Amino acid sequence: MTTMKRILPLVVLLLSPPVAVLAADLGGVVVKLDGYEGAAAVSAQLVERFKIQITVDPKGETKPLAVRVELPESGPRAWPAADVEVRDAQGKALMVRRVGIEWAKLLFTVPAVTGNYFVQAVQPTGGKPVLPSEKERVFVDGATGLRVGITKWHDGRKAALSIRFDDSHPTHLTKAVPILREYGFRGTFMVNPGASEPGSRRRSEFEAHRAEWEAVARQGDHELANHSAHHRGAVGDDDMEAEIGTAALAIWKLTPGRSKLMALNLGGGTRWETTRTLRYYLDKYHQFETSGSLGMDDVYGNRVAAFRQHLERHLASGNWCRIHYHYIGHGLSSSEANFRAALDVAKEHRSQLWIAGMADIHKYQTERNASKLTLQPSGPKRLAFQITCQTDATLYDQPMTIEAQLPPSSNAGRVKIKDDRGNVIPSRVARTDGVTALRFDVAPRNAVYAMEMTP
Ligand SMILES: [Zn+2]
Repeated sequence: MTTMKRILPLVVLLLSPPVAVLAADLGGVVVKLDGYEGAAAVSAQLVERFKIQITVDPKGETKPLAVRVELPESGPRAWPAADVEVRDAQGKALMVRRVGIEWAKLLFTVPAVTGNYFVQAVQPTGGKPVLPSEKERVFVDGATGLRVGITKWHDGRKAALSIRFDDSHPTHLTKAVPILREYGFRGTFMVNPGASEPGSRRRSEFEAHRAEWEAVARQGDHELANHSAHHRGAVGDDDMEAEIGTAALAIWKLTPGRSKLMALNLGGGTRWETTRTLRYYLDKYHQFETSGSLGMDDVYGNRVAAFRQHLERHLASGNWCRIHYHYIGHGLSSSEANFRAALDVAKEHRSQLWIAGMADIHKYQTERNASKLTLQPSGPKRLAFQITCQTDATLYDQPMTIEAQLPPSSNAGRVKIKDDRGNVIPSRVARTDGVTALRFDVAPRNAVYAMEMTP
């Protein structure tokens, strides 16, 4: 007993943070001085939902101080990390350092003087669009009993799967692309299309195999995405803009006439310093960023079993399952055997799974969230409805699937789908859980469609 009593205060002391930290509830945000053990202190308070005021008290310290802020990334208190910037009390934006794939962890340097700083999420220009509710994406026609809705994923599949490859490695061309083609799967290739930089020993793998990447882009069965120009991070706004912007331009050049929207991943282990929000770069170059992906490098162990679990979880929840690879082949990040074994798992679930590029999936999700269906004046033999979609048609061009569940008595073969000019839209019959449904794909644009019962 006496020993326990003596140890306890010591344990409490060891568990307490090494630097002075806030007492107030910051909604899950952590603020501290980075790598510092002197007298200076920071305190913080939440002044708005996504705005924190940080007060620095140097307490005699004379050297600059590094402030680390960690924002919650998930759950009800999650911050929109891509919209976050840091300003001083005069409103000047500070240079903030982050790691490529950890945008919610900020590090910035301040002088050792008493002062206030604000970490805040910037509202998107023009405000957030008001999106229709889930209920507005489906309707039931009282007269015919038809239930019409936009399926959660393409062709009524239960979940989506994207297979990503990072760093434009030569084995993507020699192994990943041909093996994916054997399976008929679409991959997303995160490339670094920047030319070799003077003074850098890093050779541009992309440049060395440019003709082969051009051929992949021309064929169009795989997606190219932005992994920054050189995979080296950036120091300052202009450098960051060049790393993201020149990579985007290089990919657009390889895919002329196609939507400019593409996935961006800044790369693990890279450091980025900018005064701007990530949103600035995303919006300017039509990029989108999605976090959370299962790493498939063999070094993590039991990858095929881990993927099976990951995939089955997503099939159960109906969400987007993301995985990523580095290099494929003998002695590399993933052996060819393990790569094929994972693709076999995906193949097993193929009928329930939409295997697509990251931009395809992002487009479908965004378009669907911005769409609603409205029943139009109809008769006993003709049902008309309008689809309203708010997304920009030049960027968002992934067709969406409409599903009409037919009453038990009806004959699916007698139903024709027509657009507002009378053209017949191809449809297919699907039977799930004893229900007969007609499915057809429509462009993500405002339009009126009619379902006609033919004799
Ligand atoms: Zn990378």
